[in-house]
Amino acid sequence: MTPAFAKATARTLLVATTNPNKLREIRPLLAGLAIELVTLADVAAVPEPEETGATFWENARIKALAYADATGLTTVAEDSGFEVDALGGEPGVRSARFMGPSATYPERFAEIFRRLNGQVSVARFVTALAVAKGNELLFETETAVEGRIADTPRGAHGFGYDPIFWYPPFGRTTAELTDQDKAAVSHRGRAFRDLQGWLRKP
Ligand code: IMP
Repeated sequence: MTPAFAKATARTLLVATTNPNKLREIRPLLAGLAIELVTLADVAAVPEPEETGATFWENARIKALAYADATGLTTVAEDSGFEVDALGGEPGVRSARFMGPSATYPERFAEIFRRLNGQVSVARFVTALAVAKGNELLFETETAVEGRIADTPRGAHGFGYDPIFWYPPFGRTTAELTDQDKAAVSHRGRAFRDLQGWLRKP
């Protein structure tokens, strides 16, 4: 085990993500709790575990257990992605690597539209979240938000596949929502509210 965060207390929670967009969404979702949030930038460098899982669950567990073991901290990790039903659930767990890790999102959108060939498809964002301490999993949840593929990319907020995810109750893509409105309905918002509920338990 590498040295833990020097000032760790029983209420320290490591959020194990290197994705600044996810962190921006997650921070307000954990505000107001009697916990001290630390990120991977606050702890000694830990080698990134390989996301070898075939499911969001497996990858969330791999990340939570790896970072908890390496840091000694109670760690929350999430794995998320975008599923398009008419494409058999692709890009799914490979969302961040779809068409290769250096493909741009406009390239990914074009490929999704090309494969859909005008078909309307149900689509969803999914998050699996796991909390680990040492080699034990303490809490898990999986959440989703369902909508459909937009006719064309819209909006400049959010990140990743947000411009092509049309959320019918708002009549907008999630890239046209503020972080706050997105969090109210998103897969990640739901997962972190579940976590909040668990953390609030005495
Ligand atoms: P992970 O970092 O391995 O969990 O990969 C997550 C990937 O799924 C991101 O890089 C995005 O491509 C996609 N994704 C997850 N959540 C969202 C979201 O809220 N909006 C848009 N894309 C998302």
